[in-house]
Amino acid sequence: MQFRSTRSGNLNVSFKEAVLRCLPEGGGLYVPAQAVDMRQFFLYMGEETSYPELAATVAPALLQGELNPFSASRVAEGAFDFEPELRQLDENLSVLNLYNGPTGVFKDFGIAFLAAVLEELLKNSGPAMILSASQGDMGVSLAHSFRQRQGITAVILYPAGLIRGLESADFVPQGGNILPIQIRGTFDECQRLIAEALMDRPFAERYGLTSANAINPGRLLPQSFYYLYAFVKIKKYLRGDLVFSVPSGNFGNLIAGLYAWKFGMPVNGFIAAMNANDSFGDFIRGKKFAPRPPVTTNSPSLDVSVPANYERLISFYEEAPAVMRNMVYPDSVNDERTLKTMVEAWKRYGILLDPHSAVAFAAAERLRASGDFSGHVHTVVLATGHPAKQAALVAKATGQEIVMPPRFAKLQKPVEPVAVIEPQLDALEGAIASCL
Ligand SMILES: *Cc1c(COP(=O)(O)O)cnc(C)c1O
Repeated sequence: MQFRSTRSGNLNVSFKEAVLRCLPEGGGLYVPAQAVDMRQFFLYMGEETSYPELAATVAPALLQGELNPFSASRVAEGAFDFEPELRQLDENLSVLNLYNGPTGVFKDFGIAFLAAVLEELLKNSGPAMILSASQGDMGVSLAHSFRQRQGITAVILYPAGLIRGLESADFVPQGGNILPIQIRGTFDECQRLIAEALMDRPFAERYGLTSANAINPGRLLPQSFYYLYAFVKIKKYLRGDLVFSVPSGNFGNLIAGLYAWKFGMPVNGFIAAMNANDSFGDFIRGKKFAPRPPVTTNSPSLDVSVPANYERLISFYEEAPAVMRNMVYPDSVNDERTLKTMVEAWKRYGILLDPHSAVAFAAAERLRASGDFSGHVHTVVLATGHPAKQAALVAKATGQEIVMPPRFAKLQKPVEPVAVIEPQLDALEGAIASCL
């Protein structure tokens, strides 16, 4: 499968190039250039298929010519020391728990695959450097997945006071490949510095710089795997339609679901579950997109006014507007309804939901009650965050004591940076050069 820019339709690049460049020259985002029919690879898979097995089967079929089945097995086994978990709650409802990774959010899945596949793709070619900005957890996820990967250095930029949960034995000066740098500035300045570094061609090419942010196709593509996994687990019980409910902020997760559909997964719709920040819903309903300023809610990862994947979603609508109107249902869930849903899910099904997952759960319940679907519909709600990530809120809403998984304890441990610099390109270059 090749990739093209959302803006120029005919300059195709390989997966490796899309991952290593991250952003196409001339703007836009990378999207798959062709829809690959993957049905023969997962329609007949048994429900006992493990997640690494599924990934090892699907990835080489998608990335033919770039990743052979042996390499893909190595990548999948090396990436996933955690799995999604599908829980069927009743005949018509399941949750897909995506929070069993090192930092307790679904983003661990994309990062783990990116790290492992990059190591494989870089064999026989030069080294690469992953640049990323973090406010804490993302850095832990990156360090977990990139540590000891051959030929890759992971540079992570943080605002003051937010470096935590890393092991200093993994740092470059100690012989590792993780380089946490503190910026005298804000998170936005960290991101601006990354954008500048990527655009500085000589600098970028000297180190093989790319970005590990959420729009990298190397993170997005593998997120389609857990939709296929859910389908494989549940297909035997399906009597009618299948719908996924997805808590949506930057819309990466939803786009990955749409890719799974493009690859041939039999699915009838996706709920784009938003909180009060729902201006993008107007666009999905066919109106003009007029972003409103973001408001703060109890599901902060959904507090987005212009989704980072905006251009990717637009490209789906440009291709087939009528199909898309029947495929994606927007809904908006306020804070009060989110909390009520956390209580109801606990009382009715004995499950604890983090607020992001509760937004998707509430939207799924509303669609079920609306009668918009006739006949049988099975809804799979994506649980994107571990309830212990917002333990105080979940405990207050449900009255339950939240057990903290041991791996989360170290997420809070403050760590010293390797360097502290001004938010300027020459300072970043200097810090990197002096450490390598
Ligand atoms: C990032 C995140 C989301 C939003 O996912 P997008 O791909 O940005 O739409 C939802 N829930 C949690 C817990 C997250 O961390």
